[in-house]
Amino acid sequence: MPQPPLSQVPLDAVWDWQEQGACRTADPDLFFHPQNERGHSRSRRERAALQVCARCSVRIECADYAIRAREPYGVWGGLTEEDRERIYQRLDGAEHPRRRGQGAALAAVELGTRPAIA
Ligand code: SF4
Repeated sequence: MPQPPLSQVPLDAVWDWQEQGACRTADPDLFFHPQNERGHSRSRRERAALQVCARCSVRIECADYAIRAREPYGVWGGLTEEDRERIYQRLDGAEHPRRRGQGAALAAVELGTRPAIA
């Protein structure tokens, strides 16, 4: 089965949540890896980014967007690239989530939270 194209912005995407993101005042370099980053450097950077996400009030909206858009790069909504890849693998041939809230439901399993999205 062919993979959906990368990074498709959902048609019902809303962006208000981005203005409340805790990362707006954090170092942007924490969220996206530089070329050839590996091992401990990558783990350290991702841990720091995840700490910012953990105190973010719009984490679930952010995760919902990232999963639905199939964002290939970066930490979004408390999910690393590998976390999102695990979610996609769990879909096991099911249709890629496109509707608002579907990404949040999948993220909730990974994050151990409730799939709450208004
Ligand atoms: S969840 Fe993380 S990446 Fe998303 S807006 Fe909040 S701080 Fe930024």
